[in-house]
Amino acid sequence: RVKQSGRGSFAFFHPEMDEEARRRRELERDLVHALEQGQFALHWQPQADAQSGMIRGFEALLRWRHPVRGDVSPTEFIPVAEATGMIIPIGAWVLRTACAEAASWEAPLRVAVNISVAQIQQDGFDVLLRETLLATGLVPERLELEVTESLFIEDTDRALDTLTRAKALGVSVAIDDFGTGFSSLSTLRSFTFDRIKIDRSFVSEIEKSDSAAAIVRAVIGLGQGLGLPVVAEGVETQAQLAALNAQACDEVQGYFISRPMPMAAFSAEVHPARSVEAA
Ligand code: C2E
Ligand code: MG
Ligand code: MG
Ligand code: MG
Repeated sequence: RVKQSGRGSFAFFHPEMDEEARRRRELERDLVHALEQGQFALHWQPQADAQSGMIRGFEALLRWRHPVRGDVSPTEFIPVAEATGMIIPIGAWVLRTACAEAASWEAPLRVAVNISVAQIQQDGFDVLLRETLLATGLVPERLELEVTESLFIEDTDRALDTLTRAKALGVSVAIDDFGTGFSSLSTLRSFTFDRIKIDRSFVSEIEKSDSAAAIVRAVIGLGQGLGLPVVAEGVETQAQLAALNAQACDEVQGYFISRPMPMAAFSAEVHPARSVEAA
């Protein structure tokens, strides 16, 4: 006979599920203190011209060194931070740290920062943006916000208003992970983006799958038609780079060019604070 009691009495109990839920609760709890305890750092990944290989910018990627668990992937902790609201102070820290660091580079390269939906929908994101630029001295034209199509699922008008104000400051906006959302094409009509980033899932299949290759070709064509430069994400091999070049993709980003690293780990030739002939 099935026992009829409250929550938690279902026969669905699996130790792995319990373990997963517990890990998530612990991450939630630990994220609250991670910022004040200095556990976050930024790694940087170059975005290079596909033809010449010249570095055009760097994307800031957040890293969390948990005191007990070690490195926790952003694919795991960013969703937790979004669900708990911690993404607001964490995102503000990322923006400020990335802008401050970029302002100190000698080469005036682009700095790309990932922004969560919750940040854009927060009241006063545009004020935060303006204050951050002022405080760090970064020229707005060097900052690019990377947003995903999920921004356009709810409260679209508000998100568009905020992004429009960001653009009025001189900041540019890229659409990240393009092609994986549910309404990629209409998203492109609802806002004037400055750049399209083709999702890694298409790039990684470019040689193996005709459909992935066709989608990459179509997105590059779309960018050309709209006058938007296209960046391919997740380029891991010479062959992928060659295929993208054959399609006249503008920029590339991925392990083949460089893994994301602390800025200090880049060699003098590509380090924006030391390089003089870049950009
Ligand atoms: P994203 O913005 O699409 O960033 C690209 C991800 O692909 C990064 O993962 C990067 O390390 C990884 N990647 C780059 N090149 C290659 C490659 O050649 N092969 C493979 N397999 N992977 C590559 P990461 O750093 O783990 O970040 C994952 C996601 O977490 C990001 O995806 C972004 O959505 C989010 N994220 C990271 N930092 C931040 C942040 O500061 N704020 C917010 N809101 N989200 C962030
Ligand atoms: Mg990104
Ligand atoms: Mg991406
Ligand atoms: Mg991605």
